[in-house]
Amino acid sequence: MLALYLLIGPVWFSACQSATAPAAQLPVGAVRFEASAAYKGWWAVVQNCSGLTGDFNAVQWYQVPATTTFAVAGSGPANGAWYSNGNIVVLAGDSAQSGQVVRHEMLHSLIGPVSGHPAQYFYTKCGGIVACATNCATEALAAVPTVDPASPLVDASTVQLQATTEPASFATARSIGWLTLVVKATNTGANGVRVRLPRLTPGSLSGPLFGYSYNGSGRFDLTNDAVLYLPAGATRQRAFDIRVSLLDTGARLRGAFAAESTVVITLPPI
Ligand SMILES: [Zn+2]
Repeated sequence: MLALYLLIGPVWFSACQSATAPAAQLPVGAVRFEASAAYKGWWAVVQNCSGLTGDFNAVQWYQVPATTTFAVAGSGPANGAWYSNGNIVVLAGDSAQSGQVVRHEMLHSLIGPVSGHPAQYFYTKCGGIVACATNCATEALAAVPTVDPASPLVDASTVQLQATTEPASFATARSIGWLTLVVKATNTGANGVRVRLPRLTPGSLSGPLFGYSYNGSGRFDLTNDAVLYLPAGATRQRAFDIRVSLLDTGARLRGAFAAESTVVITLPPI
């Protein structure tokens, strides 16, 4: 079944900047907009992974229409930026519907004014939920566990897999037009394990990590790693943002990990 999936590599577009400049120095062309109901759902997803809570209505949203990046005063180009002064998020227009990029900026807002990207949040707690590339990815390395080469090699089926959706109601998802599926893989054992990751085909250099299908179509991320190291109790996760059409009358969702281990959830039809 997974062979039918559309293959898309894990491409994060975010090159976020966290800016302290006053709001008067917002990027040229930035225009204010009202956050959609989908944004409220994405805010809930970030609150959930981070364990932090904040006032969604306190964030001001701007976008620079029809751009992939914009210039941040005193810094480089970015496709998203959070300004602590005024609790303002600015998004490149092309990223305004990217749940991963929008959630990255939401996480900045929830953490508050600290420098850079704390690895505890951007990797350990919310890795896979929020985009983390370029400078974020460099800073996240601090939290990536060192593989224990003596730890046992196990199959993906030994990892506990969970899937949840935001919103939980399909009727709500249908009215919002979006559904976020979060797939979690947890090592519930007392010792670290190296989970074997299958190859796409024998001899292939890459293989699937997390994936999903929604009413029969879906995607998965590819990784070149042969194993995923999970320390005792550790969780890796991935959020997939799925557009829901008014024509969809029900949701059959399958979250997948390493292709071999899957979990199915069916949201009640409306
Ligand atoms: Zn950032």
